[in-house]
Amino acid sequence: MTICVANQGWTVHGPVTRRKIIIHEVFHLLQFEQRWIGGPQPAGLHWMIEGAAEYLGWLGIANQGVVPISTARGCMLKEVTDFATNQPPGLPDLNLLETAQSFSRPGPVYPLAMLGVQQLMNSSSADALLTYGAAIAAGNTAESAFQNAFGTSLPAFYQQFPTWKALPVPATYECRL
Ligand SMILES: [Zn+2]
Repeated sequence: MTICVANQGWTVHGPVTRRKIIIHEVFHLLQFEQRWIGGPQPAGLHWMIEGAAEYLGWLGIANQGVVPISTARGCMLKEVTDFATNQPPGLPDLNLLETAQSFSRPGPVYPLAMLGVQQLMNSSSADALLTYGAAIAAGNTAESAFQNAFGTSLPAFYQQFPTWKALPVPATYECRL
């Protein structure tokens, strides 16, 4: 892994966010090793690929006792909510961010994807992410991999997700460290 330490994409961030980025990118290496991504088969839901890396990044920071995961979640929620206020109607829902093309758009798509994975983790463990990835690597559809790993259907998850996005939004960005 190469980090361009003079690049603005790196220098603009504080030390905690930089650590989060490292963990995020290392998780992509694991995804490659597992063939969740980069394999001959379709890589499944793009918001899951990035949301899992982003969630694990923040979980690593939380496990170091620096920023609780609930604070990180509040930050992500605020980014998504503020964007919707400033640039209505804001981002589309996760079901419209399933491909790399649709995910590549202006706005806080990574925070939104992290919120999706974070909600899944409320009733599952980080191991379930690897279960999902292994099923994708084995050539299963995203729908069946999702159902198997998380015990809920993808359409049912999409349907209830807007309620999760409507949780109380904190007043400040407490994780921009
Ligand atoms: Zn990424």
